[in-house]
Amino acid sequence: MSSVHFTGVTKRFGAVEALSDLNLHVEEGEFVSLLGPSGSGKSTTLNLLAGLLDADDGEIAIGERVVNDVSPDKRDIAMVFQSYALYPHMTVFENIAFPLRARRRRVPRAEVEERVTAVAAILGVEALLHRYPKELSGGQQQRVALGRAMVRDPKVFLLDEPLSNLDARLRIRMRRDLKALHDRIGSTIIYVTHDQAEAMSMSTRIAVFDKGRLQQFATPFEIYNRPANVFVANFVGEREILLLDGEARIVDDTLQIATANDTLSVGRVPPGAARLTGRRVTFGLRAESLRIAEAGGIEARVTEVEPAGPDIIVFARTLGGLDLACRVDAATRIERGAHIHLAIIPERLLAFDEKGVAIDLH
Ligand code: ADP
Ligand code: MG
Repeated sequence: MSSVHFTGVTKRFGAVEALSDLNLHVEEGEFVSLLGPSGSGKSTTLNLLAGLLDADDGEIAIGERVVNDVSPDKRDIAMVFQSYALYPHMTVFENIAFPLRARRRRVPRAEVEERVTAVAAILGVEALLHRYPKELSGGQQQRVALGRAMVRDPKVFLLDEPLSNLDARLRIRMRRDLKALHDRIGSTIIYVTHDQAEAMSMSTRIAVFDKGRLQQFATPFEIYNRPANVFVANFVGEREILLLDGEARIVDDTLQIATANDTLSVGRVPPGAARLTGRRVTFGLRAESLRIAEAGGIEARVTEVEPAGPDIIVFARTLGGLDLACRVDAATRIERGAHIHLAIIPERLLAFDEKGVAIDLH
């Protein structure tokens, strides 16, 4: 396994700058997700590392070795794509063994046997070695594709949306499998996805991209709780974040947010709130940043109740006409039209400046 380094890397396709001045340093043994919407430059980043594309600017290194001029087959990486074409006329064993046999320097038969068996055991496909791809489920096929990548013991694994073709349940199960696999083999993995939950669940760190620019590179905890800017805050989390333009005031040891509609009280003042005073601020509230209070807080009337599995999302309108959303436990009895009190959880309040850059409150 190896570290991976992008230093000032730019890639253009004609007039389109697909990747702009990327600086990203992945440590040995990390599981890093490249997360972002479609067209944000994730695959471009991966393909540059794989050597399938050439950078217009900057330097790419695998470990100590600069690879800009190294051909793809000499970079010692393994790649698994969304469409993991297995060879239909080969058994699972032969599919996994393929990279060992295809190489110029042939691996001895006994060693092929040993390595394929070891990889199959890690992936739990030992019992399937004599089957053909058409006799496998989608999840099993995906495991075989991973096995084919693993059998060479590469320096870095590159995975580009490898679960997108699987159904929702299986995708969730495969997340845990991939994470367990990473724990066991300890390889460096770079994983492209547009699915924030997938990135959150598996990664040691997440690199969030938008329009070819790296927005933040941090742990899942930081990405979710301390997003660097409005884009990241909005892209992670299950739902869109509510953004409120307002002015911050500290009155009698409580933080108040004065919006065009309403003045919302945050209760306890977050430690960094002094940075807000007198400024125009955009506040960010997720549904889980609010709770229902017994009394006091923000008065509102329930406009809609949306069951969301283990939770319910309660939509409510304040007296001033501001629409808020609040995530509550599914066992909560609450009906449309009810009069409720909402409280902002101070630890979960996010704030951004005029440029959308986070102001650290915590
Ligand atoms: P992502 O993987 O995040 O969806 P990509 O890295 O594939 O995004 O693409 C980034 C941008 O570069 C997009 O605007 C895309 O249209 C453009 N692009 C990617 N590959 C090519 C190509 N081979 N030729 C022209 N434009 C491309
Ligand atoms: Mg892509």
